[in-house]
Amino acid sequence: MLIDDLRQELAAGRMVEDPGVAAGFVHDEAEWAPYGTPLVVVRPRTALEVRSVVRACARHGVPLVTRGAGTGLSGGANAVEGCVVLSTEAMDTIHEIDPVERLAVVGPGVVNDDLRAACAEQGLWYPPDPASAPWSTIGGNVATNAGGLCCVNSSPPQSSPPRSSPPRFTS
Ligand SMILES: Cc1cc2nc3c(=O)[nH]c(=O)nc-3n(C[C@H](O)[C@H](O)[C@H](O)COP(=O)(O)OP(=O)(O)OC[C@H]3O[C@@H](n4cnc5c(N)ncnc54)[C@H](O)[C@@H]3O)c2cc1C
Repeated sequence: MLIDDLRQELAAGRMVEDPGVAAGFVHDEAEWAPYGTPLVVVRPRTALEVRSVVRACARHGVPLVTRGAGTGLSGGANAVEGCVVLSTEAMDTIHEIDPVERLAVVGPGVVNDDLRAACAEQGLWYPPDPASAPWSTIGGNVATNAGGLCCVNSSPPQSSPPRSSPPRFTS
């Protein structure tokens, strides 16, 4: 069983066992979009754990839905019936901000505003500013090409100009 594999491969606490808590991970902000009931919700902390989840899903032929903060407006993070929902919210470490290279190495679950604040501490400006910046994650921003008014001048995260180099992901 997939659940048994995940239990073996992930550290304790990475699987959301409480159905009430899991219910908070099944859809995004698109209230019109359909969603199903996941088999399980997992909250990995490292790239190795993500790899284990992806491999287990592939082995068992179970669909995998990745989720950042769930602020999307298109149902992109919505669970499909019987899937595994992989939440990146626990992968929220800012590993490195290199002022010389203008390079940030961050976990995908880092919240946009948190990265901007960390850059500001080094005298840098992280421009991508969707109106969901207090909640949405860098992973979600990159996946959806999300930006706000400041991206008129610079651009969304995956194709930023040199002064705001795109974030890279590590565990
Ligand atoms: C109040 C509000 C204001 C908003 N303002 C803007 C705005 O100004 N500009 C704008 O562009 N959007 C805006 N949005 C939409 C939304 O916030 C963005 O799309 C945001 O980038 C989603 O980030 P998230 O972390 O919530 O991702 P989620 O909603 O969790 O996921 C969005 C999509 O990205 C995928 N995904 C998430 N993380 C990863 C990952 N690590 N790897 C691969 N795929 C991943 C999901 O599977 C899903 O398809 C707004 C939404 C709200 C509710």
